[in-house]
Amino acid sequence: TDELLDRHRAVMPAWMPVYYGGDALEIVSGSGRRVTDASGKTYLDFFGGVLTTMIGYDIPEIREAVQEQLRTGVAHTSTLYLIRRQIELAEKIARVSGIPDARVFFTNSGSEANEAALLFATNVRRSNQILAIKNSYHGRTFATMAITGHRSWSASSLSPVQVSWLPSGERLRGRMAGLTDADHIEAAVSELRETLATVTAGDVAALIAEPIQGVGGFVHAPDGLLGALKKELDEHGILLIADEVQTGWGRTGDHFWGYQAHDVTPDLITFAKGIGNGFALGGVVGRADVMNAVPAISFSTFGGNPVSCAAGNAVLDYVLDHDLQENARRVGAILLDGLRELAATSPIVAEVRGRGLMIGVEFTRPGTGEPDVAATLRVFDECRAGGLLVGKGGLHNNVLRMGPPLTLTEAEAREGLEILTAAVRTAQA
Ligand code: PMP
Repeated sequence: TDELLDRHRAVMPAWMPVYYGGDALEIVSGSGRRVTDASGKTYLDFFGGVLTTMIGYDIPEIREAVQEQLRTGVAHTSTLYLIRRQIELAEKIARVSGIPDARVFFTNSGSEANEAALLFATNVRRSNQILAIKNSYHGRTFATMAITGHRSWSASSLSPVQVSWLPSGERLRGRMAGLTDADHIEAAVSELRETLATVTAGDVAALIAEPIQGVGGFVHAPDGLLGALKKELDEHGILLIADEVQTGWGRTGDHFWGYQAHDVTPDLITFAKGIGNGFALGGVVGRADVMNAVPAISFSTFGGNPVSCAAGNAVLDYVLDHDLQENARRVGAILLDGLRELAATSPIVAEVRGRGLMIGVEFTRPGTGEPDVAATLRVFDECRAGGLLVGKGGLHNNVLRMGPPLTLTEAEAREGLEILTAAVRTAQA
């Protein structure tokens, strides 16, 4: 691994993130919710390769669906020909979208999905003005970097869109500690009104929002917030884009989509990450009038290709047939309860938050409440030593993020909890 890390550093750009510093991990195989590294050590995986492993590793139904497509000899473009697996998957996604008469456009990634949604919205609205939320993460293309609301994640200001910012749930919560959800929603709506009246110039095309901020540290606003904002947006004809790249497919337990906690139907929904269980696949589902309005030719050579869509169909069927949303709710609740118990006795765990199998644990310094990056890192490293992989993130890099495969069992949740509890105890000692 040392040698591989040296080779990585010699050939990749310096900013490429690699977890575990000089002790970087090479994952060589996986099965179920576990992965094995090059030294033969096995880990329970609570991060699922940044939420890309929706179902788990080496799942027979998915392996066979992909192999069946490969056996046809056809692994090529996603356009110009009739692609049965793409059409089937689009039908299923349109059906679950909650949008009447929806259209689906496939991409290779979340960034491209958001880029496409911005294209649809700006085109139909004849405006390049976008509203976005602070601390958001929407991707790595120029337009999606521009709407990514944190400098360390966005990296460019050379933007083709004009952006106005609304405060994130976290900001509002901090400012309004002790107030109710209804107060919070009212404040957010008045921020939106003020922004529309004073900050934006002319017509705005769309508001884009993650129902739960992912990279931002799994921060969620009160239920109903997006619905309240949408009422205001509708008065101006402004579209709502829900970025469900992390929150879709039942991950949050209570609903198939994150937006469903908000009493709203978005005009466009973007998705990616785990929907191909590791195969590159993303897309947009949305209103036919908005998506049809884009002039030809607008296509993606590989977005929705036959191999990725073979995986995508198998994943969505698996999620629905096994009711993984309910599993996420049930097993996620066990994790959340266990972590909240831990938080009650730990001086460094400031907050445990999340929904279903999308859970964040925030660490602060006892007494001062300052973000404790060092403690976060200690817990992170101790988890790895104990055989558990988790993610890191958050506005101040002081949040551990968990997004395990949705097939996580109760026994695995308890096993992970034990490792996490021991890691926190060691880190705070
Ligand atoms: N939107 C959200 C909410 C994300 O979390 C991410 C990836 N972290 C993206 C968009 C971008 O997806 P990708 O990296 O596949 O381009």
